[in-house]
Amino acid sequence: MSDDAAKDRQLAHERASAPLGAADPRAAPGEVGVEPEQADRATVGAGRPEVGARVVPAFDPHHPPEQALIDDCVHCGFCLPTCPTYVLWGEEMDSPRGRIYLMEIGLQGEPMDDQMVRHFDQCLGCMACVTSCPSGVQYDKLIEATRQQVERRYPRSRRDRAFRALIFRLFPYPRRLRLLRGPLRLYQRSRLGTLLRRAGLLGRLPARFGAMERLLPKLGRVERLPEVTPAAGERRRRVGMLTGCVQRVFFPEVNAATARVLAADGCEVVAPAGQGCCGALSMHSGREAEAQAFARDAIAAFEAAEVDQVVVNAAGCGSTMKEYGHLLRDDPAWAERAAAFSARVRDLSELLAELGPAAERRPLPLKVAWHDACHLAHAQGVRDQPRQALAAVPGLEVREIAEGEICCGSAGIYNLTEPQPAGELGDRKAANVLATGAELLVTSNPGCLMQISSAIERRGGHLPVAHVAEVLDASIQGADPGSLVQRGR
Ligand code: SF4
Ligand code: SF4
Repeated sequence: MSDDAAKDRQLAHERASAPLGAADPRAAPGEVGVEPEQADRATVGAGRPEVGARVVPAFDPHHPPEQALIDDCVHCGFCLPTCPTYVLWGEEMDSPRGRIYLMEIGLQGEPMDDQMVRHFDQCLGCMACVTSCPSGVQYDKLIEATRQQVERRYPRSRRDRAFRALIFRLFPYPRRLRLLRGPLRLYQRSRLGTLLRRAGLLGRLPARFGAMERLLPKLGRVERLPEVTPAAGERRRRVGMLTGCVQRVFFPEVNAATARVLAADGCEVVAPAGQGCCGALSMHSGREAEAQAFARDAIAAFEAAEVDQVVVNAAGCGSTMKEYGHLLRDDPAWAERAAAFSARVRDLSELLAELGPAAERRPLPLKVAWHDACHLAHAQGVRDQPRQALAAVPGLEVREIAEGEICCGSAGIYNLTEPQPAGELGDRKAANVLATGAELLVTSNPGCLMQISSAIERRGGHLPVAHVAEVLDASIQGADPGSLVQRGR
């Protein structure tokens, strides 16, 4: 590359990072976020029990982070201003560049110890660094391999293991989650939570359980989703629909709206009854074998449904299903099937853009703020399609959110395992969302809906939130905009 071209490229990236949270990407840690001593306290994690482990070597031979991918990093620092943990603490080892350095020294023989694991655990896996890296570093592959090594080799504290076991025995299983729905709804309707909060009792819960309580969405009536929803008018495609785990149990109305929108635009929608978890939570947490088992089941369920494409309305699930080919690359019986399956996966907005609208969009005079879920924008590179889908609704004004590239702190189970930084990121996002003056926040991921909603409430603000499918459904049905704004989620 000539000097001029290199300068142009550098300037383009400086411009791209200008509106974001941190200052100059090459700023010293103290110039961004908090002071170094505070950063050190934040990053090591006050109150996190250390196990004193020194795992040597840090990585075993089963898919360690690849040296060739590490070598792609030229240490330029352009990723730093978009990295939420670097924005919070200004600590190099909590930046993409720092974490890649830790992977490299791990490969060179440094042990995996508490501090190294802490820096990896603090990563949200938001992939903002993948978007902002001019050298095309595949940080997604690097952190996925690293997390698998951590899960296999690092002995977490008993408390940490117990909390993670609770999450992974519950969240990927919709039947188990459903058993909780009734008691949780009763808890919400009884206003017991409000009383406990006023009495200061909820504040005494361990931080992780307190986060669970705060993040619980308001549970309404269950909207049933038929296994097959016929296309309205001429059938243009037969698509499979992932109903998800948290989405299915806590946001059934989003799935129902998704099926209606797809049907209105000419899709026969099949939601196979036998489908389970897609494996996203497991994959993003390094639980490789568990994620692979979920992936095989999902592939088999949708293959049996004989669909043209598989549509997903949860960004984290969609990005995982598009990676099944990589996840099952070592399995000769599944590698090819998995790659073919991944090629047929579409986010809802991608599929709608491919099809073009068939149903009339009726006016919805509303100002909405659009939040890019990280696993849609950064991991899948889908940014224009949801904006186009919203722009096609007459009367709808879409407002952009400042620091849109920075994660809201949801990040799978991150807001449960790391409630403190997740809360700070949630507060930051809530402030930026409220500053738009929008009447409704719209996004495409159940985790973001819960995280931002809870952060807005914590600030004493009020802004209803909706999934993009619900907005499109309301427009197609000719619903009153008040039905979106007043339902109280
Ligand atoms: S994935 Fe997100 S949190 Fe992790 S290093 Fe990249 S930008 Fe930072
Ligand atoms: S990950 Fe990319 S942007 Fe970040 S320091 Fe390395 S080369 Fe630069």
